[in-house]
Amino acid sequence: MALYHSPLYQDALAQLEMAAEIMSADPNIIERLKYPKRAIQVSIPIRLDDGSVKTFEGYRVQHNQTLGPGKGGIRFHPHVDLSETTALAMLMTFKCALVGLPLGGAKGGVRVDPNELSRQELQSLTRRYAMEIGPFVGPDKDIPAPDIGTDRQTMAWFMDTYSQIHGYASHGVVTGKPISVGGSLGREAATGKGVAYCVNFAYEKLNQKIDNHTTVAIHGFGKVGVPAAFDLYEQGAKIVAVSDYTGALYREDGLNVHDIAEFAKERHVLKDYKADGVKHITNEELLALEVDVLIPAAIDSVITKENMETVKAKMIAEGANGPLTKDAVTYLSERDVFIIPDILCNAGGVIVSYFEWVQGLAHFFWDEDQINKTLHNILQKAFAEVVEKADLHKCDMKKAAMIAAISKLEAAMKLRGLFPG
Ligand code: NAD
Repeated sequence: MALYHSPLYQDALAQLEMAAEIMSADPNIIERLKYPKRAIQVSIPIRLDDGSVKTFEGYRVQHNQTLGPGKGGIRFHPHVDLSETTALAMLMTFKCALVGLPLGGAKGGVRVDPNELSRQELQSLTRRYAMEIGPFVGPDKDIPAPDIGTDRQTMAWFMDTYSQIHGYASHGVVTGKPISVGGSLGREAATGKGVAYCVNFAYEKLNQKIDNHTTVAIHGFGKVGVPAAFDLYEQGAKIVAVSDYTGALYREDGLNVHDIAEFAKERHVLKDYKADGVKHITNEELLALEVDVLIPAAIDSVITKENMETVKAKMIAEGANGPLTKDAVTYLSERDVFIIPDILCNAGGVIVSYFEWVQGLAHFFWDEDQINKTLHNILQKAFAEVVEKADLHKCDMKKAAMIAAISKLEAAMKLRGLFPG
């Protein structure tokens, strides 16, 4: 079935089933969590700059809405398909539950290479996609956000389209918006900041401290990788390697991440970056570096059965969604690599998205300090809950995070019951 074939979906399912077995979860609840509530496929015809019409395929999947409206990003990428979107929507259900948000799980995407479209074409694509999935989204139904290939401009176009259709400015329909149209302070850096917070919590748990001997490699220097690099760099860590899809940069004594981020902002690719002492290596070489912390923050399934034996990092902070396959998690956990699971590690983005949604509904905005402090507290509590489950069930952090999420969903789903009864 188109919905269930992808390795990412199979992996998400396996994670669910493994956790369910350890915690002896109610099989009827697990049966319901295996499938999305609703999966929408839409055609998006747009007029290209040369006057011709081209049709793209788009999706929005709502996995579970027991705890609240759906929440999840919109991805513009050539590999997007219904099954990958379904898996990502499922992970969003667990992520929101784990960190205690009153939100369910959803995800959307368009199968397109955004780099091949002009700004005008991208705007047409976003607006038509927003219109096609319009009946199924809204502040009380499902609230999209940016993901790979989309950004705050995409969200501004989405919000405007929805608002034009409904006849009023709807601040609550998407998050990750620019500040001037109801965005939240701190949202752009939130996911990476959350990754850095989680690395700190992990160091505390291991009775260690981040200092200028701590080495970090970041796979994927984008919206997640950059702020994570900045925060760890501020704390004194040496960011020895960063990468994008064109390759990686390496410097044993640490890179100047601010300079590299400035360079990347100008739409430059890292293979063209030059600075004293900076070597160019491949992404595979980056993943195999002997570092204290490896942060895969690009795409899913980068550490698999094929390359897991080459990984030498002591700690892996999953900035991306599903960067380690099931086999890689099992193999590395058995070798005492401390893995901070994606649904915890990258939850900073959805937490501040939640703050943005709340601020939008209340038409009242918080300062950045309050946002970062509340983000820190929520993640700290969730991290402690995962550690507690890991100790209780004597399992790795990845399984423990799923157990913590499923426990909350199980309790709520039992209380709400199964409609129509
Ligand atoms: P992004 O598009 O801003 O950055 C992705 C980075 O990865 C870019 O530097 C890109 O060049 C690089 N990349 C892409 N393919 C690669 C490859 N094959 N090898 C090496 N590098 C590659 O995307 P993002 O928003 O930073 O998202 C990254 C990951 O984090 C995704 O898995 C996303 O689902 C997840 N995530 C993002 C957020 C968020 O708030 N942006 C929140 C939670 C999870």
